[in-house]
Amino acid sequence: MHEVGIMESTLAAVRREALARNAAHVDRIVLRIGVLSGVEPEALRFAFEACSPGTLAEGAEFDIESVPALAHCPTCERDFAAGAGFICCCPGCGNYSGDLRTGRELELRSIEFTPHPTPP
Ligand SMILES: [Zn+2]
Repeated sequence: MHEVGIMESTLAAVRREALARNAAHVDRIVLRIGVLSGVEPEALRFAFEACSPGTLAEGAEFDIESVPALAHCPTCERDFAAGAGFICCCPGCGNYSGDLRTGRELELRSIEFTPHPTPP
């Protein structure tokens, strides 16, 4: 299950960012996952439950933003919904485009945290 490896590196990045900003606790993590990334959101959620205890993110809300697959048509200058294939037919002009613009994301979108209280 490669989601565990993804979660470990995600939590490492969260920890790095949180510590750099004097966070006492991480409250919420949002990931952007493209539908073509090959990552199973449910497996990722499970990996979060398994990997987060004992970290700054223990008990944090864990949200996944799903990113649809969009291909770009250079003729129509627009993006259109792409299927599972990587070469897609533009519904506007019928040309094929392999220019996939979104759908393979796997990134940390945001981290919400509670800062350490600042000394008076
Ligand atoms: Zn087109």
